[in-house]
Amino acid sequence: MAEPKALRCVTCGREFPPWSVDYFCPRCGFPAGNLEVLYDRDKPLRRFPDPARFSLWRYGELLPVGEEHAVRLRAGGTPLYPWAQAAEELGLGALWIKDDTLQPTASCKDRGTAVTVAVAKRLGRKALACASTGNAASSLAGFCAAGGVPCYIFVPKNAPAPKIAQLVAFGAFVFRVDGNYDQAFALALAASQEFGWYNRSDGLNPMVVEGNKTVAFEIWEELGDVPEAVVVAVGDGAVIAGVCKGFLELREAGLAPRVPKVFGVQAAGAAAVAHAFARFQRGAPILPAEEPAETLADSIRVGKPADVVKAVKYVAETGGGYVTVSDPELLSAARELARRAGVFAEPSGAAPYAALLRLVREGALGQKDRVVLIITGSGLKDPQGVTRDLPEPPLIRPDLRAVREAVERCA
Ligand SMILES: [Zn+2]
Repeated sequence: MAEPKALRCVTCGREFPPWSVDYFCPRCGFPAGNLEVLYDRDKPLRRFPDPARFSLWRYGELLPVGEEHAVRLRAGGTPLYPWAQAAEELGLGALWIKDDTLQPTASCKDRGTAVTVAVAKRLGRKALACASTGNAASSLAGFCAAGGVPCYIFVPKNAPAPKIAQLVAFGAFVFRVDGNYDQAFALALAASQEFGWYNRSDGLNPMVVEGNKTVAFEIWEELGDVPEAVVVAVGDGAVIAGVCKGFLELREAGLAPRVPKVFGVQAAGAAAVAHAFARFQRGAPILPAEEPAETLADSIRVGKPADVVKAVKYVAETGGGYVTVSDPELLSAARELARRAGVFAEPSGAAPYAALLRLVREGALGQKDRVVLIITGSGLKDPQGVTRDLPEPPLIRPDLRAVREAVERCA
């Protein structure tokens, strides 16, 4: 385990001793003053120990807290499936699906939560809180349930019912906020400061990115190399910040010779990070952004992305970029992924596939490229989001003739 050396403000570069500040640089404020976790390693890493162990705690050398503080749910160790048929059709060198829906609470958020809850325990915090469009909330609720820690959750009123159901089942104290995600986020922050809760919200707590980065370690280990490109959906920016930081740290630690291009995908109606990236490419500074957010993909319906600075800066460091896709493209990607790859993702989870089709069409990726799509959230989180407009299965009499008739009708 490597204790952090310091926390550094992403905007002014000021450094703080580890654990001296929870969320952001007081001079730059939030979100411009978001913090990144730095480590001090005297010798390069050769490899990670215990490759047969499927848990992100294997990567303790690059995590801010030791496993002795972890709760028992197992985060990390998700499968990487080759998808040769699609690679061939699209004219790619190779294509894989990193199925991060197979986590304890069925989304990639469990990586950040595992580390953040362990940090809370390490610091002796008595309760946790977060705002979330749904997945980070159910993740925190699950890990707090396993750890016997109280947790307070703020969700926007339009969060899908299955995500609320998870929260209630895990016994979290749930506030449904009569407002959008950005309002729920601000309220969770104010309440955490008022009541002393440790806040796990994406883009606020720098420890979340430390957990999120482990997906990069897993991809690198399983492939024995880094791919040319990795594609992932972006809401607040904390997941893509983690993906990039993971690959950048592998290079810095001497484990990987280069980093992949990391591409973020946003819904066209909720594209504040993509727009901030475009402004940055034209030479403008990265400023906190605020835009309207409308998309059927609730997990990435974010108008004020909290981790925008890291999400722009790190992606630029990898040489990647941003893609926006329409809601119909998201929906069709989710259905195609389910039908052709057997992976049932929520619309945001399938966004990388929608983006890949565009990147190939526009010539940004091709024959030389080996690509990984990170699928971030299960379709069971929002089943109606994916199956809307699809016909209902036929109702039949309980006899064989009815089966034959139904099969003939379909043929
Ligand atoms: Zn600062």
